[in-house]
Amino acid sequence: MGEASIKAQAKTAYETAIGVEVHIELATKTKLFCGCEASFGAKPNTHVCPYCLGMPGTLPVLNEKALELALSVGIALHCDIPAWSRFDRKNYFYPDNPQNYQVSQWFYPLCKVGYVEIGEDATKRIGIWNIHLEEDAGKLFHDEKTDQTLVDANRAGVPLIEIVSAPDMQSAEEVLAFLEQLRTKVLYLQASDCKLQEGSMRVDVNLSVRKAGNSGLGTRTEMKNLNSFRAITRAINAERERQIGILEAGGEITLETRRWDDAKGASFPMRSKEEAMDYRYFPDPDLPPVFVTEDQVEALKKAQPEMREAKRKRFVSQFGIPEYDSEILTQSVRLANLFEETAKLGIAPKKVSNFLMGEGLRILREKELDPADVQATPEHFAALLKLLEENKITNTVAKEVFEEVFVSDVDPAEYVERNGLLTVREEGVLRQTVESVIKENEKSASDYLGGKEKALGFLVGQTMKAMRGQADPATVTALLKELLKK
Ligand SMILES: [Zn+2]
Repeated sequence: MGEASIKAQAKTAYETAIGVEVHIELATKTKLFCGCEASFGAKPNTHVCPYCLGMPGTLPVLNEKALELALSVGIALHCDIPAWSRFDRKNYFYPDNPQNYQVSQWFYPLCKVGYVEIGEDATKRIGIWNIHLEEDAGKLFHDEKTDQTLVDANRAGVPLIEIVSAPDMQSAEEVLAFLEQLRTKVLYLQASDCKLQEGSMRVDVNLSVRKAGNSGLGTRTEMKNLNSFRAITRAINAERERQIGILEAGGEITLETRRWDDAKGASFPMRSKEEAMDYRYFPDPDLPPVFVTEDQVEALKKAQPEMREAKRKRFVSQFGIPEYDSEILTQSVRLANLFEETAKLGIAPKKVSNFLMGEGLRILREKELDPADVQATPEHFAALLKLLEENKITNTVAKEVFEEVFVSDVDPAEYVERNGLLTVREEGVLRQTVESVIKENEKSASDYLGGKEKALGFLVGQTMKAMRGQADPATVTALLKELLKK
């Protein structure tokens, strides 16, 4: 047996168990316990007040909207909602934490035991252990010029939910499937914008390996600083390899927290169990327990929006678009709604879907945009498709204008007018261009006259190019045929 195949065999002899802790910032206007704005990207330390700066004597007031959003997520994840929960203080000193404690839930969380379904036909259930409602910390910035570390407390006190999964996942693929499902549900609920790059969704991965067939779990490590789905995949695969390597060499796994360095493609120890802090959790004396009645839960269940699966099926039956289209469109609630509202304005649904799936997805990819940032209103999108339907603009022009509508919601009629993009079909205007195209492409002209039909297509293409895509193809073809015969 070669060394490579021995290695391969060793690898398959291990099973991986992965659980995740997902922090999601809730999309409330204000913070969890004070009236400060919770929005992202403001000037440092402008969204602060005595409470979220940890001044003595200030008192918290629970944001009802945050509670509602957290419960909605719990309901969507099939969780049990206990009749009451409680806030606890997690005590630690760090400069980004003005209060020196974080208000969290430790002993009695808001939601318990739920699940997320993944895999083909949702065949595998990933358990949810609990969902905590808690405050976010502020942020530290290191200023290279002055070699100083600065504190921005804008994020301190922004509401977060922490979703803790069971170690039910066995590969990076399963973790991504879980996160995609979770993210889609939260986006459909409009409970958060779930942007990994802005930190409104953050994922820690707990991973352990064990010999195949063994029961129980191996010693786990916790991986932090995972800022993209790609980083999560790489970190999981690297950590699995690292742990198997240690075990194969006869070593033991240390229970520790590790920091993923995506540039280096490796993780480094942050703190071991011995260094782990004792947070001295205790009930927050300033906050009463949170009571949730059955009526409240029922009302929230009724108010849940249509989720992805239901929408996917309905689009096929109501609009007659292919399953595939519906699958793609409903991946983002923003695109799904744009599709539905535009189709309802009297545009053929398949035409709407084609533009969104072809051009829309291309633009998102090329500009690295989040679907939530799409600006198009259904009215402008429909107006553009009408211009195309009425042959006022060509397909090439429509694609150009669509990008403007999609990204900046320009008025298509005005844009076409201002940039002179209406389709040219006046023979007088086109004749000159066609004549010069024939002159410049003598070989193709004689090929066509010699019986090569294909050469005509080439000449039409050249004319369209010369007209910047704005000529009416039928008129161009007719003119070419006429002028070639001369
Ligand atoms: Zn505040």
